[in-house]
Amino acid sequence: MADLSSIRIENLNMFYGVYQALVDISLSVRSGTLTAVLGPSGSGKSTMLSILAGIHMPSSGRILVDDRDVTFLPSAERNVGLVFQSYALFPHLSVYENVAFPLRVRHLPEADIRPRVMEALDRVRISDFARRKPAQLSGGQQQRVAIARAIVFQPNVLLLDEPLAALDRKLREEVRLELRHLQRELGITTLLVTHDQDEAMSMADEVVIMSEGRIQQIAEPRQAYHEPANVFVAGFLGVANVFRGPLRAAADRVFIELPGGERIAAHPAGKGIGGTGAMVGILRPEQIAIVEPGTNGSVVATVRETVFLGEGVRVHLQSEGGFDFVVQTAQTKRDFPAGSRVGLAWNPEDLWLLAS
Ligand code: ADP
Ligand code: MG
Repeated sequence: MADLSSIRIENLNMFYGVYQALVDISLSVRSGTLTAVLGPSGSGKSTMLSILAGIHMPSSGRILVDDRDVTFLPSAERNVGLVFQSYALFPHLSVYENVAFPLRVRHLPEADIRPRVMEALDRVRISDFARRKPAQLSGGQQQRVAIARAIVFQPNVLLLDEPLAALDRKLREEVRLELRHLQRELGITTLLVTHDQDEAMSMADEVVIMSEGRIQQIAEPRQAYHEPANVFVAGFLGVANVFRGPLRAAADRVFIELPGGERIAAHPAGKGIGGTGAMVGILRPEQIAIVEPGTNGSVVATVRETVFLGEGVRVHLQSEGGFDFVVQTAQTKRDFPAGSRVGLAWNPEDLWLLAS
């Protein structure tokens, strides 16, 4: 049977001297999909991408593209399109010549170059600027040229390293959508490296979360957000309420008992997960509702501070037992005065349990 994965990384290790930047990395990107590699600065993302691109050789491990071992193949023979944060356009060449460059390197006949360049420029909606020099373009336009240059030779794989990091927020969101649209249209297998969780979550079919050279989790964005593999992933993908304590059962209820004595309701099936040992429970701020104090099963807390987010309100509270909660609600018109006592409630099934 044909292998569906278009990029496969097997047991990759990378040392810079004695420092190990990548530790036993294995992952595959299915043909035509976009995978985002997400992690803090220094976690090894660019190292991984540079090995895929053929810029660095790994200390050990294999890279397969469409089942072909390309680990020791030079960059030019990998048929891989590359876009970096610093667009690295040639400043002395026009937009047209920048995009034509990969075709000239590949010795395409002149007659084939023009239609291909114009098509690539059209795709990123920049054909009107073909004669300009990069310095005469905005950051967003320069980035479009870089993308056109990466796709002009019809690579089977596209590698993007923080491609939008230099753009301001509004433009970043715009180019993000365009890039995703283009990737789908071309059906090109793409690996996107980013430290921006919103970018990863909104663009990717799958996210690979890295920390200190190791993969922490590979999952669809929604799953990584709601079912993080560990506390690092939970925290990296957004705000999380992290409860630590023994899992206990009493009167048909299952809960994590906090040091302050409060009971954090868990799903009854959670009982099986770790017996009565130490556990970690995770709730996202939007999974907690603010209710009347004294509501059955709720935790009593005092409002400390409210942050207006535009699309919602984030409320910081402290429970009687001293636990700091973060709650987010879409009720932007409601007031949560500091010092007021409220109840906090959630669906016990939403509490994500991890062995501590
Ligand atoms: P990221 O892209 O996630 O920020 P990098 O892959 O750039 O991470 O770097 C991972 C680690 O490897 C960092 O600690 C970095 O300092 C180190 N590193 C990267 N490139 C080199 C190099 N050429 N020589 C030595 N150390 C390097
Ligand atoms: Mg990097």
